[in-house]
Amino acid sequence: MEPTDLIWMNGVFVPWEDAKVHVLTHGLHYGTGVFEGVRCYDTELGPAVFRNAEHVERLIKSAKLYYMDVPFSAEELRAATLELVARNGLSSCYIRPIVYRGYGTMGLNPLDATVDVTIACWEWGVYLGEEGASRGVRAKVSSWRRISPDSLIPHAKASGQYLNSVLAKVDSVKSGYDEAILLDDHGHVCEGTGENVYIVRDGEIATPGQHSSILDGITRRSVMQIASDLGYRVVERNIARAEMYLADEVFLSGTAAEIVPVREVDDHMIGTGEPGEITRVLQKEFDDAIHGRSERYREWLDPVRAPALQTPTGEPVGEHALAGGDGAGANGASGAVAAAERITGATG
Ligand code: PMP
Repeated sequence: MEPTDLIWMNGVFVPWEDAKVHVLTHGLHYGTGVFEGVRCYDTELGPAVFRNAEHVERLIKSAKLYYMDVPFSAEELRAATLELVARNGLSSCYIRPIVYRGYGTMGLNPLDATVDVTIACWEWGVYLGEEGASRGVRAKVSSWRRISPDSLIPHAKASGQYLNSVLAKVDSVKSGYDEAILLDDHGHVCEGTGENVYIVRDGEIATPGQHSSILDGITRRSVMQIASDLGYRVVERNIARAEMYLADEVFLSGTAAEIVPVREVDDHMIGTGEPGEITRVLQKEFDDAIHGRSERYREWLDPVRAPALQTPTGEPVGEHALAGGDGAGANGASGAVAAAERITGATG
């Protein structure tokens, strides 16, 4: 991971190396945090965060499910994300907001513990690799089942819940595969470790529905919208394991991975063993959408234009200034100055 200049912590921009927490932070011990994975792309409109408002909304909902009141509004978090990317001078990056129970209270009742919020970003390439995206990945059905709503909250993107994904991922990698596909507690196909899953059969796209133990993926929403706009039939339904083996195409979607073809599951070749035609079409349309080449999906892009990048008279500064040519923060502020600046009142 390549450090960037600044991380946003509870409303303050602090230098990357100073963005630390105490070892007795509640979330570190009990997994009491919720987070997001968001991407900013270099688009036709300049750097833009993909579906920023939807990610913030899901973050706040995940927090609510774990009884955490986020001490910032959705609009403040959205604006802080844009300003962070701008100040770090990045044109494309991965963004990681997290809301977690902080330092000061231990024990399993978290209700008196503080709720802290940080946002970090850094450059991160395609999660399952360029080759995975172009040729397809090899997946293994995990021996670990996806967390059940009887025990946890699949619809929350909560830190502790990811131990389930970690076990499945390690199991698949140690067995020589790229990714794991988890079944739900009924034995139906559920999702990847950090991706939603789809099968294509006779031109129809099927994916597990909201009643299944999926995370309601924001890329999933985009994929379903794009697919139906293109005239494909998209159905949400239970998928049996064998149906996946016999599908014409299988693919995954997620913010980190984007859209990734699956070329093998449990050593069964999917279709011809090459990425399928519908997967290819969706990959291309999605790529156009995230890079601002598609007028139809422009509203999914939240352009990075932070107030810090304006002159005192409010005129935008040149594009080159985003790169922070003097080696300091993108707005020319040193880390120390930035650390002292609260965003409150500074963001629009
Ligand atoms: N399922 C899980 C378990 C995930 O971690 C993710 C990644 N956030 C997804 C699905 C896909 O969600 P999204 O498209 O919003 O990234």
